[in-house]
Amino acid sequence: MKQAVFIERDGILNLTRVERQHQVGPMTLEELRVNTAAVPLFVKLKAAGLLLIATTNQPGLSRGYQNRRELDRMHDLLRKTFALDDLLVCPHDETDRCPCRKPNPGLLVDAGFKWHLDLERSFVISDKWQDAEAARTAGCTSLLLDSPWVGKVHRDFILPGLDAMAEKILRLKSSGRFVAA
Ligand SMILES: [Zn+2]
Repeated sequence: MKQAVFIERDGILNLTRVERQHQVGPMTLEELRVNTAAVPLFVKLKAAGLLLIATTNQPGLSRGYQNRRELDRMHDLLRKTFALDDLLVCPHDETDRCPCRKPNPGLLVDAGFKWHLDLERSFVISDKWQDAEAARTAGCTSLLLDSPWVGKVHRDFILPGLDAMAEKILRLKSSGRFVAA
C-alpha cells in the first residue's frame, strides 16, 4: 500500500491574506500567490515515494461566491507547480453536513480508497486545526505549521517551518515507526 502526504491548500501551497483574524484564500487565478519556496520540499517528498494529495474546503462553491472556472484555473496551476498526484475539494457549506468538509475526514478516507493508501502511515500537513482533527480521525500523522490557527485539538507535531516538516516526514518514514507490529 502506498503512503501519501495530504497537504492543505491555503497557507501551504499558496499564500493567504488575513482579515479580522481569519485566513482568506484566493478567489481567482490573478489573486493566487503560489508558495514557490515550498516547491523543492515537495519534490523531495515525492522522490521519497510519497504521493502528494492536496485537500481544500471550498464552501464558496455551494454559497455561490467562488467561480468554478477560476477555481479550476488555480488548481491546474497548483497541480503543475507542485506535481500533485491529486487535489480534492469539498464544495459544501457547513449547513450541508457533508462527511468531506474538514475537520471531517471524508477527503482523506476517499483518497485512501482511490489510491490504495495506508492511512496509518500517511501524513497531513497544514497550518490549521481542522486538518489535524481530520488526520486524527483518519489515522494519519499530523504536522502543523506554527500559526494562529492551530487551535487545541490533538496534533502529532507542531513545527516552525515547512523545511522542518519535510525533514520530520522523511525521518519518520525511514525510521519505520509506522510498520504495524
Ligand atoms: Zn463536503
